[in-house]
Amino acid sequence: GLVVLDKETNIRSINAAAMRIFGADAACVGGSFFQVQRSNKLRQALNDALDRGHGSARLELEGRFYRFDMSSIQSDGKQLGAVILAVDVTESQNAEQMRREFSANVSHELKTPLTSISGFAELMESGMASSAEDIQMFSGLIRKESSRLLSLIDDIIRLSRIETATDLLQEEVELFSLAQEQCEHLLPAAAKKQIQVFCEGENCCVRGNRTMLSEVLYNLCENAVKYNKNEGAVHVSVRREGNHAVVSFKDTGIGIPKEHHDRIFERFYRVDKSRSKETGGTGLGLSIVKHIVQAHGGYLTLESEVGQGSCFCAVFPLSTEERT
Ligand code: ADP
Repeated sequence: GLVVLDKETNIRSINAAAMRIFGADAACVGGSFFQVQRSNKLRQALNDALDRGHGSARLELEGRFYRFDMSSIQSDGKQLGAVILAVDVTESQNAEQMRREFSANVSHELKTPLTSISGFAELMESGMASSAEDIQMFSGLIRKESSRLLSLIDDIIRLSRIETATDLLQEEVELFSLAQEQCEHLLPAAAKKQIQVFCEGENCCVRGNRTMLSEVLYNLCENAVKYNKNEGAVHVSVRREGNHAVVSFKDTGIGIPKEHHDRIFERFYRVDKSRSKETGGTGLGLSIVKHIVQAHGGYLTLESEVGQGSCFCAVFPLSTEERT
């Protein structure tokens, strides 16, 4: 947005973008700028521009964030007016906010296991835990917390790899055989809870990165086992729908309350922190899944009923050769 003011701060000229930003129309030309925008911050910045040559301010208008840069217009040392440049900085402001939250979360998540590790080590060092059983118990706890730390760091590295990856769509990947492979990897974990895993469907080729796609399928299937009941079932299906490949993971588990559906794909978000920790979760799995799916031009859907089970679907565009 661009606005040109005379030295009495009346509007001489305003472009369409600035009119949209300030919610004004062409009738504002000739009138005072402060009839269009009354913010004190802008008034101050404009005074700075007229007094010292330059002023700036940040302001939220109708849910979007703008940076306003104001400069005075002078000719032969005479003040003629000022020009206001408004830039929409909503996206970068949001990205900045997410980066800040992510760093705060990472520090917290890394600190928790480290605090336990150092506490247990201290007990052993000071001799307060000295019997053979104590030593065995505390070293077991240290090992468990360390492996949590390792998987957390692994997930963080994976997430940043996906974010910086370019050109993911280099190979043809057949999703049905990939899904069958991932289900097989999970059979031992499923057997421990007497969960049956079924995988059915048809061949569907998409363009993408095989390692990352197998990670998506593995993660969704792993959650379907992890958050399932004993003697439950997991149904994985790979089907074509129009020009898309739909891979669905249906479980008979604990389900996810509706109010969590929107947030479940956020980093570190867990419905039940204690349960997820018990099962070794980091809260990063689904956000990794979402990033990979989006990087492949796809999307995720979720349907779930508490106590009945959940169904996650990953939908990908079929590779061009397979489209009808
Ligand atoms: P985690 O490492 O905690 O499993 P995820 O990002 O994979 O992290 O999942 C986030 C949260 O979503 C989990 O903590 C769990 O509360 C919930 N969740 C994921 N999948 C399922 C599922 N199939 N059934 C019930 N809850 C699930």
